[in-house]
Amino acid sequence: MTLPEQAPGPQPESYDPEWVREKYAYERAKRLRTDAVGQFIEVTAEFSHYADDPYTEFVERDPVDDEVQVLVIGAGLGSLIAAVRLREAGFDDIRIVDKAGDVGGTWYWNRYPGAQCDIESYIYMPMLEELDYIPQRRYAFGPEIREHCVRIAEHYDLYRNSLLQTVVTEMVWDDGARKWTVTTDRGDRIRATIVLVSPGPLSRPKLPGIPGINSFEGHTFHTSRWDYSYTGGDETGGLDRLRDKRVGIVGTGATALQCIPHLGEWAGQLYVFQRTPAAVDVRGDRPTDPEWAASLQPGWQRERMENFTQVTGGMGADDDLVGDGWTQVALELTGPAVMKEMERRGTAMSMEEIADFLFEEDFKSMERVRRRIESLVEDRETAERLLPWYKRQCKRLSFHDAYLQTFNRDNVELVDTDGRGLNRLTRDGVVVDDVEYKVDALIFATGFEVATNYTRRAGFDITGRGGTRLSDKWAKGPRTFHGLQSHDFPNCFFLGYTQTGIAPNYVHTAEERARHVAYILKEWANQGGALVEADQEAEDEWVQTMAESTVMGKQFFADCTPSYLDSEGDTENPDSLLSAGYGGGPVAFFEILEKWRAAGTMEGVTVE
Ligand code: NDP
Repeated sequence: MTLPEQAPGPQPESYDPEWVREKYAYERAKRLRTDAVGQFIEVTAEFSHYADDPYTEFVERDPVDDEVQVLVIGAGLGSLIAAVRLREAGFDDIRIVDKAGDVGGTWYWNRYPGAQCDIESYIYMPMLEELDYIPQRRYAFGPEIREHCVRIAEHYDLYRNSLLQTVVTEMVWDDGARKWTVTTDRGDRIRATIVLVSPGPLSRPKLPGIPGINSFEGHTFHTSRWDYSYTGGDETGGLDRLRDKRVGIVGTGATALQCIPHLGEWAGQLYVFQRTPAAVDVRGDRPTDPEWAASLQPGWQRERMENFTQVTGGMGADDDLVGDGWTQVALELTGPAVMKEMERRGTAMSMEEIADFLFEEDFKSMERVRRRIESLVEDRETAERLLPWYKRQCKRLSFHDAYLQTFNRDNVELVDTDGRGLNRLTRDGVVVDDVEYKVDALIFATGFEVATNYTRRAGFDITGRGGTRLSDKWAKGPRTFHGLQSHDFPNCFFLGYTQTGIAPNYVHTAEERARHVAYILKEWANQGGALVEADQEAEDEWVQTMAESTVMGKQFFADCTPSYLDSEGDTENPDSLLSAGYGGGPVAFFEILEKWRAAGTMEGVTVE
């Protein structure tokens, strides 16, 4: 995309939709790149050390050669929830395999200072009622969530037979034996009747593909592999070894927002390299009120989770139970706001009127965020560079109460790359606009692979019936029935963001997927089946449904600033989140699954 010749003039005093559209288009054009997700480097080969585990010492063990009924690949929340629901459904012989040294997935890896979940803990941390646990705060910090993952694994006996520090290398279907053979980098050979594959939607760190990325000789790591031996301190901060260091951090996404205040507090000098400013809103965290916790009635967590997904899914609710920034934005910028406006006008609105109305509401919402930035950042020029110019929901919403104030510190400098990113790295620094910023350490808060091929993200290929490779079958994007099963890959369930209901609260979606898989497998076990597989016809229909349902979402992102949500502006990328999420929204998707189960006919799934 070429830049308009002239940048839009200064912001008019009153709302001018033409100016806003022009400004957003101008900023988008600066950031659009033809290489889209190809701009990032995979952390393999000479970059593989960026994915090494700094947290758990490697323990040698003998290879395993055995058989299990259910193998779960991945030990993150999605896997733990599925394993628990299967255990409850009567499956005892379950083994979890994961590369990490313990359970927790994203919460195992992301231990950067300040790591905190931006979804309310009471709906994000699963099985609170079952485990009689109440989180300490409204938004839980990483260690508490990690401990909770361990609590789940211990309570449901999921460590039994598990293989941690183990990377699956291949998975092959044996049609004669009706079993999978799974091999690992530890020389294991496991036969499994059922396999759940859950690599996590954001698990593989990525690096920017900038010239000289390999020439930097200072210390460097990715935020998901925080090196406390270098920085000192721990997840609560106290990075005392950085006192005399010049530190650079690349990125200003959800991760960077949380660790930058700690880096600012401890580093001798901090450079924050920004490509696109984040629209940072109020967090409003607080400790859990014990009286409120004591007043909760049985079933409260499920009710709260469902309520949040309904509200953030744009459907409104009589009572907004969570009532935070997520639900506020949804209530202001989706269906309920339109209904209110129609009531106010006393008449129905055309599609065009609705679009104009929502665009203006979005502008107001962004203006609130922009004014907040201006009120918190003292230096005018820095505040100006921190202003985000895109629609509110173009990026994942961000909230923080200390990030912006960090730029008021004398030792912190915002280096704005004006949408272009870093020019290059040198032996001892970072070059932006021909200025070299010398740093002792460079931290990449550059996120995770999202819209690359599924098997690349999983880290291994799957060979199904007749030698069909998943990488070939899904070369143009996932092909599934309900996001969970794929024809020619019997007894295999995909537990990620593949043609499924996507919602801000990942845990809710994981719960619904787990419930559905448990139902199917219970039926399969009751029928004494050996094989459970999606029919080709059902899969084709679901692929078609997904293609039709995602059109509107793609349209919404057509004028957005690029991000991982839209595959860096490549909205037609078949592996994008836009293609992966059912366009009718998560609630409608869960209803589809519920109706399917209620019919009791297993339509579209063959049990042999
Ligand atoms: P993101 O992908 O959101 O952010 C990556 C950052 O790196 C962006 O600011 C991006 O800029 C920047 N970047 C990429 N390439 C370059 C370059 N060449 N030069 C300069 N800057 C560059 O990753 P995060 O780790 O921040 O977050 C990923 C996701 O993880 C979140 O959106 C969320 O889903 C999850 N997360 C959730 C949390 C939670 O509380 N539940 C907390 C933290 C993360 P640009 O914006 O221009 O692309």
